[in-house]
Amino acid sequence: MQTRTDVIVVGAGPSGSTAAYRLAERGARVVMVDRARFPRDKPCGGGVTMRGAQLLPFAIDPVVERQVERVTVTQGHHGRSRHIDGGGPMVLMTQRRRLDAFLVEQAVGQGVEFHDNVRVRAIDMTDDGVRVTTDTGTIEAKILVGADGANGATRAALGVPEPSYAIALEGNLPRGATNFDDTKYLDDALLEFGTVPGGYGWIFPKGDHCNFGVGGWFAEGPNLREHLAELCTAHGISMDDLIHLRGHRLPIRRSGTPVAISLAVLVGDAAGLVDPFSGDGMYEAFLSSKLATNAIGELLEGRASDLSAYPQELGIALGPHVAGAWVAKLIIERAPSVMMGVLRVPRMRNIVGRRMRQPHTDRSAFARRTARTMGRRARRALGPHAA
Ligand SMILES: Cc1cc2nc3c(=O)[nH]c(=O)nc-3n(C[C@H](O)[C@H](O)[C@H](O)COP(=O)(O)OP(=O)(O)OC[C@H]3O[C@@H](n4cnc5c(N)ncnc54)[C@H](O)[C@@H]3O)c2cc1C
Repeated sequence: MQTRTDVIVVGAGPSGSTAAYRLAERGARVVMVDRARFPRDKPCGGGVTMRGAQLLPFAIDPVVERQVERVTVTQGHHGRSRHIDGGGPMVLMTQRRRLDAFLVEQAVGQGVEFHDNVRVRAIDMTDDGVRVTTDTGTIEAKILVGADGANGATRAALGVPEPSYAIALEGNLPRGATNFDDTKYLDDALLEFGTVPGGYGWIFPKGDHCNFGVGGWFAEGPNLREHLAELCTAHGISMDDLIHLRGHRLPIRRSGTPVAISLAVLVGDAAGLVDPFSGDGMYEAFLSSKLATNAIGELLEGRASDLSAYPQELGIALGPHVAGAWVAKLIIERAPSVMMGVLRVPRMRNIVGRRMRQPHTDRSAFARRTARTMGRRARRALGPHAA
């Protein structure tokens, strides 16, 4: 393969495919490569919040298996619980194998040239763009989109410092395989706090199975199997009942880390954009690819001279959201009873439900500054795990 193009997108997960789609829609020539053979799976709960789905330029209905209309939050396995009703669907439940194949299909339909089973080996910035060396040849492009996730090659190749990490493990319980009452999990999801340091356990409803998972501080990695086994036992099943068990790192950006370097951008997990509280990353993947491709489009079309609009817009859109996530994490880690107390108030439950459906929208400089300060303090107070 010897190619020249406008944009090379490395990685065909949610961030890469949607970036490729948007750029092709604007008329750019786009090549997208992924080291995996598609369709491929990716360790993930497969929950797309409504605020994430709304960012997409098309509906994902064909691959949605359930819509979560109620989230139950508990303290401990059998402790106090609160129900969050969002007044409509809050999360769309899918499987990554299906979602990612669907997103690639949309990108290809828009004119993107896609090569799977192609691994990027090296990236060199040239005078007029970028040269990407893969195991099947080289691709020269004016602009690079690094969308290759937590274990990709572009972040390090661009000299961007490593993020911090959380870690998670999940598996599927086929419906009807045990005595587990899966009728409780048709449009309900469960989040159990206070069971995994730095995170939580979950049960998500899917079409023919329920997804059980646990995630927490990276240092909890060696204990994750034990935490998952405890979650299973607490719900009357054995961890051996789960199939397709797999774990993965969740990258969490350190503040100030660059996301645009010369003629390259990082999006989604490659930029370390996972929400430090929820561990979600698809809203951030869709948002960053939208903002990055706006900046790339402006540059390619001659209305901007660089990609600096991307980090600026990302900071405005995501800054308060990330700060709020650190504050929520501090409260749930240090004073879970306070969180449960807050969730007793119907208005607060409404706010939480609304946040899953719509992003935070206060873009004022004052609100952003206040959020940044609180977020920084919360992160510091959480100690070395959050550094
Ligand atoms: C257990 C677990 C549960 C999660 N649950 C949720 C959830 O319910 N909801 C949610 O919103 N988020 C969840 N997340 C986070 C979410 O999975 C990620 O944030 C999301 O996948 C990020 O998408 P992405 O496109 O940036 O990266 P990825 O989805 O990781 O895609 C990166 C792609 O790049 C490819 N690639 C890597 N290296 C190379 C290379 N050298 N050359 C070519 N291609 C390469 C990979 O094959 C891959 O296809 C979860 C994460 C974990 C680990």
